[in-house]
Amino acid sequence: MKDIKVFIAHREVQCAECGEQLGRPAWITLDSQKGAVCLSCADLEHLAYLPAGNTALTRRARKNSRLSAVVLKWARARKQYERQGVLVEEGALQQAEVECAADETVRAAARERAAERRAELDDKYIESFARRIRDMYPGAPAGREMAIAVHACRKYSGRVGRSSSAKALDAEAVKLAVIAHLRHVETDYDVLLTKGYERYEAREQVRQQVEEMLDKWQEV
Ligand SMILES: [Zn+2]
Repeated sequence: MKDIKVFIAHREVQCAECGEQLGRPAWITLDSQKGAVCLSCADLEHLAYLPAGNTALTRRARKNSRLSAVVLKWARARKQYERQGVLVEEGALQQAEVECAADETVRAAARERAAERRAELDDKYIESFARRIRDMYPGAPAGREMAIAVHACRKYSGRVGRSSSAKALDAEAVKLAVIAHLRHVETDYDVLLTKGYERYEAREQVRQQVEEMLDKWQEV
């Protein structure tokens, strides 16, 4: 297992893959060939952020998560990278919170984080995105459009300079959101990343499977 590293960058960063200006601070991964890549392009944006501070919760969340990443920030004074927290699967974090639930402080923190997560999202926007998914992919299992829309909304709401919801609702953007979901949920893609596969290799491995599911979802 290799630790995927995410860096919080304080300079202006442009994603080497999608070209997006990421604002400051920018959360990035470093691709061996391309350089700085945004979390969306790196396929890590579906992960939830758990700040360091609760060792038991962090340990359990990472253990439950098929894919996780360590978040690092450069500490100028000490001239070294310092660990800020981890990115883990939402479900893994919830499971870990349940496991730690005997501890009331953890429960309070969990409630606070859940409220923060919800506040980030614009309900109306999620609904229109979900409807668009349902229109384009009538064969998708019930409820999936909401899960996909929530992630897509997080992606478009958190960015400086990416406010146009029209852009986000075009057919290509919807298709990309659905493909990302299928990769994470219906294939071994995340496991391949954890095993150290490069993204392009992992995508190639699951491409056929994703295309077949897309076709199926497009049928009524
Ligand atoms: Zn990008």
